[in-house]
Amino acid sequence: MQNRVSNAASQNASEPVGSAYRPRTAIIGAGAAGMLQAIKLREAGLDNVVIYEKANEVGGTWRENRYPGIACDVPAHHYNYSFEHNPGWSHRLALGPEIQSYMKKVADKYDLRRSIVFGAKVTSAVFDGRQWHIETSNGIRDTVDFLVAATGPLHIPAFPNIPGLEEYKGIKFHTAEWIDGIDLSGKRVGVIGSGSTGTQVISALAEQGVNLKAFIRTPQWVFPLPNRKFGKLERAIVSAFPFIGRMTGNFYGWFFEHVFAEAVIKNGWQRKFLSSMCRWQLGRVKDPVLREKLTPSDAPLCKRMVMSTAFYPAVARPNVEVVRDGIVRATEKGLVDQTGRLHELDIIIFATGFHARAYHRPIAVTNAQGVTLDDAWKDQTGAHLSVHVPGFPNFMLIGGPHSPRGNFSAIAYSEAIVDHIVKVIRHCAENGIHAIEARPEALAKFREHVMSAIPQTVWTTGCTNWYMDEQGMPENWTGTPDEYRAILREPNYDEFLLST
Ligand code: NAP
Repeated sequence: MQNRVSNAASQNASEPVGSAYRPRTAIIGAGAAGMLQAIKLREAGLDNVVIYEKANEVGGTWRENRYPGIACDVPAHHYNYSFEHNPGWSHRLALGPEIQSYMKKVADKYDLRRSIVFGAKVTSAVFDGRQWHIETSNGIRDTVDFLVAATGPLHIPAFPNIPGLEEYKGIKFHTAEWIDGIDLSGKRVGVIGSGSTGTQVISALAEQGVNLKAFIRTPQWVFPLPNRKFGKLERAIVSAFPFIGRMTGNFYGWFFEHVFAEAVIKNGWQRKFLSSMCRWQLGRVKDPVLREKLTPSDAPLCKRMVMSTAFYPAVARPNVEVVRDGIVRATEKGLVDQTGRLHELDIIIFATGFHARAYHRPIAVTNAQGVTLDDAWKDQTGAHLSVHVPGFPNFMLIGGPHSPRGNFSAIAYSEAIVDHIVKVIRHCAENGIHAIEARPEALAKFREHVMSAIPQTVWTTGCTNWYMDEQGMPENWTGTPDEYRAILREPNYDEFLLST
């Protein structure tokens, strides 16, 4: 029976629920967002929860990405869960391995491992009108009431389509598939790509003295954010007085949300300030030929801004050559650029990014009418509030289309989505609602709202980046972080079809 249930009074996501209906929720992925979702559901008393994780450890992106130089470009004291501040960060921008140990510690502290099925890659999910039937690659079948895709926006590596690459006889791999322990000394190494990942890996390898060619097709603007190491005394003080770390985190949170996140959506002082800082840093590259090679032709912030003070000095080192002539093909010995020059290489590293619009994929998600989510999204990708897909009841995405991917801290925006999802599930539990589905007109209104702000964003100034769709439209949130939190804060159940 399909009926409308009135919008319940405002709920606090951390109060325990009281109804007899105890929905079971499956979360796909034990990365930062999936772990957070499980913690918050349990806190709300919705403790019938399971996480399916394809790997054998928590941490998501921080487990998977192990390339040299990996660090988060959101300052560490702002890049932790708001309820689980880590006073022990070693650097302003935490290094990948220490973020991964933070994730593992949180998993242990909140006893999450008892709810995680490791080594279980969800392959399909089928809705029967009331529940989701899940299958994993290792033969597990489960039936759950709610399904949350916390699969991460950047989990499927993208490889360049270079003719002849299969003939190349050297070693080649993607930064997300780093070969642990690989010895690069004495090797001729090429890195393709200079986004956030490429600049970090190039900087680290250059400093190690590796004989490096950096293939830069499109230079990016680089904001000078130094990654200072915290001294022993400083760390001891922050550990003794954790409020100092929290205050630091709040400051960076303010700075990121009111400067970076606003700079991309309107042409105000924030954009001018960040742009001038990037230009200033580029201007400090002494060699005019190198400076020219590193000068972007697009507007600062149109591509996701890179944060580094290490990159320009790294590529100025004698062991590094920046190659701007495009790669046209590969041979068994290396890469040939458009001038016909062969760059002989022992190792090629692809820092070529990810299929950022993969979302839940490659999982086959099918609704009760037999329609797959891929088919539903064939003409247009979309989710109401970036979370709920019309036609796919009880299925929710963290980091879905038009979420603030790349705008502000992934942990900060995940907290807003996760709290929203807890409220929705709780509302269903308390009101005996067995299926909740966004109305198509609600999605249309949400989309219109997001699209109407696109002309003011920097993303229309002419560039390519990983959050554009096929039409060159950004699939990002186009408002402020506070506005995003506001649309998620109190679910408006008039925007949903509810079935008891
Ligand atoms: P990305 O920003 O998509 O960059 C991919 C790079 O590969 C670009 O420079 C691109 O050049 C180049 N490329 C792709 N195909 C190529 C080809 N056929 N030939 C030559 N160059 C090619 O990917 P990413 O660097 O992995 O970063 C993705 C996002 O992950 C970041 O924006 C950030 O949000 C996140 N991230 C964060 C951190 C951090 O917190 N520190 C670190 C890493 C990543 P074009 O621009 O010409 O396409």
